[in-house]
Amino acid sequence: QQRTTPVLRASRNATLQRLLSTLAILEQREGKLNMSSLASISAAQKLSGPIHGFVAGSNVKAVAEEASKVEGLEKVIYVENGDYDRGLPENYAPLLVENIKKGGYTHVFAGHSAFGKNLMPRVSALLDVQQISDITSIESEDTFIRPIYAGNALLTVQSEDSPKLITIRGTAFPAGAAEGGSASIEEGTDPKASCPTEWISEDLAKSDRPDLATAEKVVSGGRGLKSKEEFDRLMPPLADALGAAIGASRAAVDSGFADNSLQVGQTGKNVAPQLYLCAGISGAIQHLAGMKDSKVIAAINKDEDAPIFQVADVGLVGDLFEKVPELTEKLNAA
Ligand code: FAD
Repeated sequence: QQRTTPVLRASRNATLQRLLSTLAILEQREGKLNMSSLASISAAQKLSGPIHGFVAGSNVKAVAEEASKVEGLEKVIYVENGDYDRGLPENYAPLLVENIKKGGYTHVFAGHSAFGKNLMPRVSALLDVQQISDITSIESEDTFIRPIYAGNALLTVQSEDSPKLITIRGTAFPAGAAEGGSASIEEGTDPKASCPTEWISEDLAKSDRPDLATAEKVVSGGRGLKSKEEFDRLMPPLADALGAAIGASRAAVDSGFADNSLQVGQTGKNVAPQLYLCAGISGAIQHLAGMKDSKVIAAINKDEDAPIFQVADVGLVGDLFEKVPELTEKLNAA
């Protein structure tokens, strides 16, 4: 008995693992693959079994071809239909349900992005399973870890549902190589569900700077900047000197210094760049929740007791109105 149990368990695990298969939802915009959505593939690689990518919209065959080169995918399923361009969950959810059922997947991964957060609850409801949100680690095929209370506690979630519908935190699963794969491409099923919601328009903040969510470097400004004029005078030149994206605290956003799309934190974006340089940010836990996984954190604050210095690798105590221009000048001269 003592000798056979582990053997039996090992063989059961091996059989289970052979049966796993994951559908990774890929995001696209105007025919361009959203690279941050490749984190779903990196997450799926933590499980065994084949990984299929899924993409839908107009002219997505080209996107499917681009995705087929991503390392780790066995197949890319695409559905060519302009109705899915905006990712409206009312028609995108039935589309996914059809393709999940057809593929018999055990796991479905989407990014914990605006798209994933909008879509997956509806898919879960249609499939009558519990969604698992914003995971940062995969312990086994049924056990996942997700931060709660603004990252102050980690919850281990075990699920018996099938399929398991999961949104993943992109910063916890760095996107793999966009080249080197050779997945097959296949057309998916299109239920052509009607959509009661009409897309009217969108008002997007446009920037030539790197995308905040995926940038290697981020410079972030807080309430200490005092006004929108000062934020605009000091932060863009510093960002340009470093080739960085611009972020902001919620206090800066709420005070109108910066656009809402730049907010970093619990109710903003999660970032984990190589360098996170912030000025005039106190380091409230809700802000830390969105940036504490950055590789190097540098902070400028006039208050030496500011909590940001407890997480900062490099700290500069001083007046940002002096220090930021000085730093920008030195970086430009270097
Ligand atoms: P403050 O806390 O006011 O800090 C300003 C800092 O600037 C101070 O440390 C001060 O010493 C320094 N300073 C002032 N003048 C200068 C100067 N001349 N030179 C140098 N330093 C100077 N916050 C987020 O950022 N992101 C979120 O996603 C988020 N979500 C939240 C969700 C909930 C449910 C709640 C309750 C709060 C959330 N918050 C969030 C708000 C958060 O609690 C803080 O209020 C906010 O982060 C504070 O922003 P701040 O650091 O810019 O401002």
